[in-house]
Amino acid sequence: MEHQHDLRASVERAAALVARATRVVVLTGAGISTDSGIADFRGPNGLWTKNPEAEKASHLSHYVNDPDVRRSSWRTRASSPIWQAEPNPGHQALVGLERPTDRLHLLVTQNVDGLHHAAGSDPGRIVEIHGNARTVVCLECGERAPMARALERVRAGEEDPPCRSCGGILKSATISFGQSLVVEDLLRAERAAATCDLLLAVGTSLGVYPAAGVVPIAVDRGAPLVIVNGEPTPFDPVADVVVRGSISEVLPAIVG
Ligand code: ZN
Repeated sequence: MEHQHDLRASVERAAALVARATRVVVLTGAGISTDSGIADFRGPNGLWTKNPEAEKASHLSHYVNDPDVRRSSWRTRASSPIWQAEPNPGHQALVGLERPTDRLHLLVTQNVDGLHHAAGSDPGRIVEIHGNARTVVCLECGERAPMARALERVRAGEEDPPCRSCGGILKSATISFGQSLVVEDLLRAERAAATCDLLLAVGTSLGVYPAAGVVPIAVDRGAPLVIVNGEPTPFDPVADVVVRGSISEVLPAIVG
């Protein structure tokens, strides 16, 4: 089939570019985790499409000002598929950029699911630009604690567990709407993009800024751009290769 031939050819061209690179920056988005059973937010089966209340909870002002939003949010967290999710061959393939060869410069992820850590990527080279759902943070005193402990309290009957140190509101340590990104994380991603010799964008629509902003930074410095995504992105016209296939199937072939 023509389509399959195109796919194989694009995978081969992407693999050749990756094989030549020694300082790779990877940007990942929701698409790399869908094969681990984690729905994206806005797709047809997305978390927010099916549960608009959850989108409301992702806005900081609603979360802080409305106890109902927080209670609903804790119920959603307690039953989230994310806690059972395992890394898939896409996450695992990216570990191959670090071992046996040492070619990964930085892994920037828009995901909050922690699956790159679970796959075994070096935590020192992961930037979770939108935070991490496996940690809670107190909005008053800033104390951080494992999400698992807060969820135990929810399952034991606390509908909106407060901070144990100060009584403040607890929230997952993700970046909500109305919250700024962590400046150091963003700068680290941008510096890495400016000095990489390949940018590999995987499973991201490249429509959410400032995360997507690393792409023009790398491209302007002359780094090749490889995009692996199920859907078209605004940066496809400037990419050296666009691979449109199942990420858990094609990424091992590209990075392997
Ligand atoms: Zn506190």
